[in-house]
Amino acid sequence: MNQVLNITSNLISDPTLLNFSSQSPSSLLTTTTDNLDFVANCSRFASEVDIPGIKLHFTQYVHGGTNLSFPENHPTCGIPYHVVSSDLCRVVMAVPTSKSSEISLEAWFPLDYSGRFLSTANRGVLMSTSGILYNELEFATSLGFASIGANNGHNGTSGYAFLNNTDALADYTYRSLHTGVVAGKELTKKFYGFPFHKSYFLGCSSGGRQGLKEAQDFPEDFDGIVAGAPALALPNIMSWGGALYKATGDPESESFLSPELWAVVYDEVLRQCDALDGASDGLLEDPSTCQFTPETLICSKGQTSRCLTGLQAQTVRSIYSPLYGSDGQLLYPRMQPGINTKKQVPFYFQGIPWDLTEDWFRYVVYNDTTWDGRNFSLANAMNAASQNPFNIQTWEGDLSAFAENGGKILTYHGLQDFVCSSEISQLYYAHVSRTMNLPPRELDSFYRLFYVSGMDHCRDGDGASAIGQDVGSSAGRDPNENALMAMVRWVEEGIPPDTLRGAKLSADGSQVEYWRAHCKWPKKNRYIGNGMVTDEKAWKCM
Ligand code: CA
Repeated sequence: MNQVLNITSNLISDPTLLNFSSQSPSSLLTTTTDNLDFVANCSRFASEVDIPGIKLHFTQYVHGGTNLSFPENHPTCGIPYHVVSSDLCRVVMAVPTSKSSEISLEAWFPLDYSGRFLSTANRGVLMSTSGILYNELEFATSLGFASIGANNGHNGTSGYAFLNNTDALADYTYRSLHTGVVAGKELTKKFYGFPFHKSYFLGCSSGGRQGLKEAQDFPEDFDGIVAGAPALALPNIMSWGGALYKATGDPESESFLSPELWAVVYDEVLRQCDALDGASDGLLEDPSTCQFTPETLICSKGQTSRCLTGLQAQTVRSIYSPLYGSDGQLLYPRMQPGINTKKQVPFYFQGIPWDLTEDWFRYVVYNDTTWDGRNFSLANAMNAASQNPFNIQTWEGDLSAFAENGGKILTYHGLQDFVCSSEISQLYYAHVSRTMNLPPRELDSFYRLFYVSGMDHCRDGDGASAIGQDVGSSAGRDPNENALMAMVRWVEEGIPPDTLRGAKLSADGSQVEYWRAHCKWPKKNRYIGNGMVTDEKAWKCM
């Protein structure tokens, strides 16, 4: 790690890097590609590059259109192959992070290079996908970014790697990402023969947390951070999962709701709250105004279907209420009303302990492989919160170093997110506001939060959720409809996004059914039209 960290100081002291912003990246690109046999350079790169701390395995030229297989990727990571759309050079390597830990990395260098560097992140449900996100490498390289991806210190969906191994946990919390950035920047410079001019981050879920961790702890790593649905307060999410399971009980318990009853609950949420934004369109633009009353669903005398017992109503009320610690402090906000429990019952509500809750307590909190999620209690939650290894709560409110460095943060969070409550993002925003003594109009200069109605966890959902945040959620590369390119325009042209324009894509992704402009917090969308709710001009941020 020391060797790798030395790369950081070399980079920062490199005068060509600091002077680069005065040069045009396109002129450099022309000069370089004119003189570069890209394919040959790619094959030579493995033998020519000798960077302390980096173990280069191989390089591979990939022609655009190739369906690339990843046989070495852990099967549980769920990305066995991916079609690569651009011509690029793939660099596969590893970096030891301690005597007992190592990260796997890939750098993808596109032929059509924009002069920008980007780090992808890790995703999935919190820690469940610790592997290289090839789909995000593809998204970034298709937009011209020299891109790096790391496996976050271990492969696969189990937390077993953390058992009595704090180095693996350090990698997972911050070190894999930062090490990848340091290595990726150095490799980018060597590969193209000139430094990148701006540096970006793109991630969601676990990756959203990684992005904010970078802004908090490594404020010089990025000029622009796009952090979606951040898994902030991560140990508390694990406890929240435990508490939600305790709220529903097992499927045979009287407090449990069947999928059919969750569908009834969703209809009632819409009945009570859908129109609060001015339009009954099946989407809640501001769940914070929805104080859902599940008791309206309690069965009338003689009613035997599509209704709840008092005990089941209590279950629903618990789920839509915040989780407090035994000291009265908030551990995690409520699940926001509006998740579509008709389409999908969240795993939290399925009457079995969440595997990630069990993994976290078994392999991180207690180092006890027999810990059983059925015995979860608030005392466990308090232990997890106070342990907070490597400050993984990621709740530092002072972003002044990042801001003073010129960095920008764009956070988005789906209002149908059933994995990380969307309320966590406004709580963190308010925390930063109070810590830095800045009202939203001043935070706007470097930190903007957008809520996206009808977006599930990071993507999909019932609404206009394709904001250009990943390879399957993009209607184009125009900054007006692509969150990553909006960030580029903010950093490089000083034009910040006031809304994030989202597309509702058809099932096969080929057609835009309608658009909606999502508002910059604390503004909220309000229907002001008198016709089609799918008309984006019928909505106004207020
Ligand atoms: Ca509505």
